[in-house]
Amino acid sequence: KKPPSRKGSMADVPRDLLEQISQLETIFTVDANKLKAIVEHFIKELEKGLSKEGGSIPMIPTWVMSMPDGKEKGSYLALDMGGTNLRVCEVQLLGNRDFDITQSKYHMPPGMKTGTSEQLWDYIAECLEAFLQSHHPDEALHELSLGFTFSYPCSQTAIDNGVLQRWTKGFDIDGVEGHDVQPMFEAALKRKNVPIHVTALINDTTGTMVASNYTDPETQMGCIFGTGCNAAYFDVVKNIPKLEGLVDLDPETPMAINCEWGAFDNEHVILPRTKYDVQIDEDSPRPNQQAFEKMIAGLYLGEIHRIVMLDLYEQGFIFENQSVEALKKPYSIDASLLSQIEEDPFENLTEVEDLFTTRFGIQTTEPERKLVRRLAELIGDRSARLSAAGVAAICKKKGIEKCHVGADGSVFNKYPHFQERGAQALAEIFGWHDLTPTQYPIKVQPAEDGSGVGAALIAALTAKRVNEGLP
Ligand code: BGC
Ligand code: MG
Repeated sequence: KKPPSRKGSMADVPRDLLEQISQLETIFTVDANKLKAIVEHFIKELEKGLSKEGGSIPMIPTWVMSMPDGKEKGSYLALDMGGTNLRVCEVQLLGNRDFDITQSKYHMPPGMKTGTSEQLWDYIAECLEAFLQSHHPDEALHELSLGFTFSYPCSQTAIDNGVLQRWTKGFDIDGVEGHDVQPMFEAALKRKNVPIHVTALINDTTGTMVASNYTDPETQMGCIFGTGCNAAYFDVVKNIPKLEGLVDLDPETPMAINCEWGAFDNEHVILPRTKYDVQIDEDSPRPNQQAFEKMIAGLYLGEIHRIVMLDLYEQGFIFENQSVEALKKPYSIDASLLSQIEEDPFENLTEVEDLFTTRFGIQTTEPERKLVRRLAELIGDRSARLSAAGVAAICKKKGIEKCHVGADGSVFNKYPHFQERGAQALAEIFGWHDLTPTQYPIKVQPAEDGSGVGAALIAALTAKRVNEGLP
């Protein structure tokens, strides 16, 4: 396969479609100046989130209070409840910045996202039970400690609890928001006689930061660009006014912050939202939440693409005389399909052609396919550039000029050009015009497994603090 031509030739695209393409380019492009303005506003919002009054970015202290020193040892269980899968891991920390891992994945049954709280916790407990039965049959197990990666915004007063502020990523399960998830989960474990105790409740970003720092001590931040998006970094207690009076900690104590930056700009003052972003928000189970995430994260990228296509169809610009029934189904295009559209290596986009006939029963013309592909590029590029604005904001707020950022998630790992586009945006924001990408001082790079290894490390760090009698 020859490498994809980025824009392809638009020579044979008729005027009216070219005009539509150019309008899409206008509304989906975030230029360098806009990016810089977003970064400045973002910094203020990060600070607001740390203040007593609070802001829309939650900026949650996680009670993870140190990076690993690399000497951590022992065997720990970790459970990752992500947006799509459930994963149970047993991690052996080897004491030399290395580890072994055994894991099993369990598919989240469809419907679980909108089912009942009890179904959810019982299902998770059953997966743990199944894991122990297959990996430790015939062993009498005593209270095993578990690092639970639960990647939704949870307010934490200690490392082993967390009150779910609100569901994200399309979850909508009654009776969990506003409650501490730890006792609900432990009750399910009790019901099923699973001898496990949750020692740490962890966000995937915090786990990602800690796991990546374990293998690469230059790592100062962890990011997820997957179904949802978010970041974690270390601040110090004196910069977190909202902790004042709550705990008696030395002002220089480090504290990992789970930013929950998906909530950035929930009040809609700076992000260049299109009418399509507004529609996605209004039709989501949690309108007015996660404004930033809804423009960036994998759950929404395909959906944005779908509703733009439908809009152009309804205005009579594309798919004339075709039935678009299959395209009318909400969330029927996922980010991996969008990746495929962007990656079609052929000038006349024959792979896109096949995709549209097999998936949607739509016969496309070559100019239509060029529009569809350009739209995918625009949506992917906007996602990468806005993501970079978040990374830049944290670095600038902290005064970090050089560091590694551990990043994970399906969009970061699989979406074509996401990494290069993000790096390019960082270069524009920071003015690295004379540097080549390998010289960029802030590097966003593939992370170690945060929800497995990171969770195990945090469980180990917690056990160490408890032993030493630290808070
Ligand atoms: C959640 C975060 C999580 C991110 C990535 C967001 O929707 O609110 O807690 O870190 O997705 O998984
Ligand atoms: Mg995950």
